[in-house]
Amino acid sequence: MKIAIVNSPNPQSIAIKEQILTFGRAHDLTFDQDQPNLVLSIGGDGTLLNAFHQYESMLDQVRFVGIHTGHLGFYTDWRDDELDLFFDALLQDAGERVSYPLLELKLFHWDGQVTRKLALNEATIRRYEGTMTCDVSIKEDLFELFKGDGLCVATPTGSTGLNKSLGGVVVHPRLDTLQLTEIASINNRVYRTLSSSLLIASDEWIVITPDPAFKSNVMISIDQDTFPIGDVDRLQFAIAKERVHFARYRHMHFWNRVEQSFIGVKSKERGSHFDS
Ligand code: NAP
Ligand code: MN
Repeated sequence: MKIAIVNSPNPQSIAIKEQILTFGRAHDLTFDQDQPNLVLSIGGDGTLLNAFHQYESMLDQVRFVGIHTGHLGFYTDWRDDELDLFFDALLQDAGERVSYPLLELKLFHWDGQVTRKLALNEATIRRYEGTMTCDVSIKEDLFELFKGDGLCVATPTGSTGLNKSLGGVVVHPRLDTLQLTEIASINNRVYRTLSSSLLIASDEWIVITPDPAFKSNVMISIDQDTFPIGDVDRLQFAIAKERVHFARYRHMHFWNRVEQSFIGVKSKERGSHFDS
């Protein structure tokens, strides 16, 4: 096993990294930043997104595992106060893993070039001045003419991120689907959109074609990375053939994680409404 470490720059994460390096050297673990098969992310979910993009060209050989410096995250299974337990799990690593779907975004440029990108959370198209106007197709068929601030296409694991803040639903990551969510659509007698999120099937794809007359200041964000797409004619969103693998040393039910992150009913020991 060859281990790479990606850490956030805060002192707490740097201290954890040092502890892991010390432990690793004492137990003959191999560290390799270039060709790892286990990538340890130390920080938050954002740090794991960074780690993912750093190693996205070798997803078939790599498993990720996240240590969170703070509360439990969605991509992070271990808190920094559980390092002893984590070390035990690491030494007993038997290659167990769990895999989740990724978003493949294809950008079709006006000069015929095609750029391919992968997202772990989501890709969001937005206009930063004036409203964004575009055609939205599902597979070959025109679905709607969208006018508003933008559109977000999220993976199941990304559904608890920006997608949820936009009013999208939380999707269990065992489902092979992508979610299209609107950002401030205009709906009146002239413009009409679905006005709710939708989930596509695993063999479907979404095409967004920005209106050429309203293309200035249209940007795309892929997870944490944002860039202008003035030279792009259309964007195609599909489930990638690649999947992301996580080293899953212990199982946590997805809905427990959602409950802990967003509701906290158990941590407050409130119990059921029917207990009192
Ligand atoms: P950030 O501004 O630190 O992220 C915003 C928050 O989203 C952080 O609390 C982050 O957790 C959390 N987060 C990231 N991925 C998540 C997921 N899959 N499920 C639940 N929460 C998640 O920026 P960042 O850390 O670089 O992360 C970029 C991501 O943040 C984007 O992909 C987007 O999903 C999300 N985001 C959300 C909003 C919003 O809700 N309005 C706005 C911008 C970005 P950590 O603190 O553990 O990093
Ligand atoms: Mn963050």
